Amino acid sequence: MISCEGHGVCADLVPEWIALDDWGYPLIREGAVPVPLLARVRWAVSNCPALALRLADT
Ligand code: SF4
Repeated sequence: MISCEGHGVCADLVPEWIALDDWGYPLIREGAVPVPLLARVRWAVSNCPALALRLADT
């Protein structure tokens, strides 16, 4: 089940890593998040209103 509701908060917070498709749903880059972006990616995960994001340990 997909929890994302297309609020777009994540893409606003980390535009270098998350874009939005034509319907407002996130397009997230694959692979390890670069260290300089980690704090903002964590911020995006904790601020997703739908709790749809998760940062996995690699
Ligand atoms: S993942 Fe969360 S913040 Fe990003 S578009 Fe979906 S609901 Fe919004």
